[in-house]
Amino acid sequence: MPKLQILHFNDVYHLAPHKREPVGGAARFATVIKEFRESYGVESSCVFFSGDAFNPSVESSVSKGAHMVPALNAFGIDAACLGNHDFDFGVPTLKRLVAMSNFPWLLSNVVDSETDGPVAGKKFVILEKNGLKLGIVGLVEKDWLETIPNLPPNLKHKDYVSAGKELIAQLRDPNGPHAVDLIIALTHCRLPNDIILANQCKDDIDLILGGHDHFFYIGKGCDVINGWTREAKGNDGWTGKEDVGDDGARLVKSGADFRELSIVELDIDENTNEGRTLKRIKNITGMFNGLQLKLSLMKKKISKLKNNQSFLMTYNHL
Ligand SMILES: [Zn+2]
Repeated sequence: MPKLQILHFNDVYHLAPHKREPVGGAARFATVIKEFRESYGVESSCVFFSGDAFNPSVESSVSKGAHMVPALNAFGIDAACLGNHDFDFGVPTLKRLVAMSNFPWLLSNVVDSETDGPVAGKKFVILEKNGLKLGIVGLVEKDWLETIPNLPPNLKHKDYVSAGKELIAQLRDPNGPHAVDLIIALTHCRLPNDIILANQCKDDIDLILGGHDHFFYIGKGCDVINGWTREAKGNDGWTGKEDVGDDGARLVKSGADFRELSIVELDIDENTNEGRTLKRIKNITGMFNGLQLKLSLMKKKISKLKNNQSFLMTYNHL
């Protein structure tokens, strides 16, 4: 049964560590990513980012976002979704930053109305990992797009559910050029919109990795095995009070600002039916950890807890 390891993060603004714990910082973050890659190997692991990197910060007011590119390039990111702040210096600047990046930026549902191509970045990317063909898409809500000044008039937002379903059907088509096994959606939406996407695309999207909010959230489609509870107050901004209508969402949101990240291990089930092998995520188990631990220690802890079955952990206070 194939396995896939995913490291996810979103919404990063400050390269330097904060003064108080969790101090975070890009250098420390890079060390954890390096350890993650060394543990699992590039062939069996992915690093995904869900948007907002180029603004706001003191540095970005001078560099217009360019200071962030070398840091992100050092992480070996497999794919990233564009966020609202990535548009802050205008589309031409964003296109320049995208061209400087050594990984693909995605934006599947915001297009140039004349060409139907993405306004920046790519519509999707295909990754092959551990015998799995992954279709990665980038979907964003309309709300924040309307607040960005100086967007070009020919920019068109397509409904993220219907445009997502259409693109995903093309990527999944067993007779099409891609015929992917799994779809992972990187999103930049507020939690209620991520939940809508998850609820309406249960058969389309296998896992949503979301940004824009700066708190952890693990959807009801994931079991939580350590500490983090959806209902608890004070989970880094998530109050647990809102009823967001989570109907079994396979969704993870991973904090913010080089202070937090999530690691997701997926066990994939294979079923052969009428000559075709279907690969689906068997289950995801969620785990939150608020301790200052190294990845190797987390792995030991998890293997004790879960006998190294599929798990997800959210890794805090780097
Ligand atoms: Zn945002």
